[in-house]
Amino acid sequence: MIRIYNTLSKKKEDFIPLEEGKVRMYVCGPTVYNFIHIGNARPMIVFDTVRRYMEHKGYEVNFVSNFTDVDDKIIKKANEEGVSADEISKRYIAECKKDMEGMNIMPATTHPLATQEIDGMIDMISALIEKGYAYAVNGTVYFRTRRFESYGKLSHKNLDDLQGGNRSLLVSGEDEKEDPLDFVLWKPKKEGEPYWVSPWGDGRPGWHIECSVMSRKYLGEQIDIHGGGEDLVFPHHENEIAQSEACSGKEFSRYWMHNAFLNIDNRKMSKSLGNFFTVREISEKYDLQILRFFMLNAHYRSPLNFSAELMESSKNALERIQTAVDNLKYIAEHAVTTEMTSEETGFIKETQSFEVDFDRAMDDDFNTADAIAAVFDLVKYANTQAGEGSSRAFAQALCDRIQSLCDILGIITEKKEEFLDADIEGLIEERQAARKAKNFARADEIRNLLLEKGIILEDTREGVKWKRA
Ligand code: AMP
Ligand code: ZN
Repeated sequence: MIRIYNTLSKKKEDFIPLEEGKVRMYVCGPTVYNFIHIGNARPMIVFDTVRRYMEHKGYEVNFVSNFTDVDDKIIKKANEEGVSADEISKRYIAECKKDMEGMNIMPATTHPLATQEIDGMIDMISALIEKGYAYAVNGTVYFRTRRFESYGKLSHKNLDDLQGGNRSLLVSGEDEKEDPLDFVLWKPKKEGEPYWVSPWGDGRPGWHIECSVMSRKYLGEQIDIHGGGEDLVFPHHENEIAQSEACSGKEFSRYWMHNAFLNIDNRKMSKSLGNFFTVREISEKYDLQILRFFMLNAHYRSPLNFSAELMESSKNALERIQTAVDNLKYIAEHAVTTEMTSEETGFIKETQSFEVDFDRAMDDDFNTADAIAAVFDLVKYANTQAGEGSSRAFAQALCDRIQSLCDILGIITEKKEEFLDADIEGLIEERQAARKAKNFARADEIRNLLLEKGIILEDTREGVKWKRA
């Protein structure tokens, strides 16, 4: 049984889906006005892993994650560059998808775009007005927060405390609200901004309504899991609940999951503080598998501090798994015997205990840190039991087991292939030919030339091998 820590109840609860064998899951996606930073990558990696584990357990997962492609920050960036907001969001959605691929994040079942769902937003806002949960003033539509009785249930906030805090934040122009707690569903257009026609005048939707609408459209009125970073609990998710539940009269999401923040030098990493790395920057130095592995080494509800040392140790740890897989493949390829001995069959049976440990860790609110520890136990076991005399079937079975556990975590066990520039490959071939023709002077010359390019050649019994200096 999978147990999930639910922000609503502040407890771990048994996971029971609305519909047997199916999971409907919505994760708030990024606002696309720049390359994503590694903080944004955390929820992507975390919830992709949740999805993979659910699939491993046999669930059919409908996973929806949006791109917020209309927002003040996008408009600001567009104005700075003198291009349209659409051009900015399209560009960074494409870049985000490249980064996701690098981190081995599966594409969602649907990636809706806010700008393509405006009709649905107008429908939901109209329904909320009809039910008395929203009102329009001078082209702006507000949600009547106090009308929704359980407001504050997710963030465990008390309405009166909120009111006290909000009053001091009242800004001019907002006093048209009936109550300082009311939030915006639709705002009127400003000069030079994208807008859509609505019953309340030209304008654009507020951020919170997007997710309520896209979630309903692609997953239905009720979903199993809603996820995002912990900064979204209030007000974003609280407002999503108010909108969706006021509209449908049903519980919106059964389970609410929130990942803790990725920090840098023990401070919150954010664009506004300027202390962030983009995923793209990290990819220049590391294979993004290492970033994924680094993130999964912590529990998703624990704050995680990013540092070069931790990335280095993640790199080494991941290499230990990859090397074990490489060795097992080598053993399988060169094995003298094919079939498993009865002793080997017994060893394979024993490895089931590592799979049990892995599942137990993941069942316990997706404890990926302990799940990775189980993978390492299996790697250690494989390194001890498999060797030159092993059968092909045995080495292959061990290799498959390691790979299938890593696959659930979305970790690729193959070392990244490095491709040589065509001219370097040409030089290696030319050197082989020179050696064959006993032109050793030319062969040495080429070896030195390659060395200058940072390529070290090694002549082995199996042929020429190369590595980067
Ligand atoms: P945004 O583009 O700011 O809406 O953020 C997209 C997602 O990234 C949200 O789920 C945020 O909660 C999450 N997020 C932003 N910064 C961080 C961070 N430093 N650590 C973890 N998650 C973050
Ligand atoms: Zn959202």
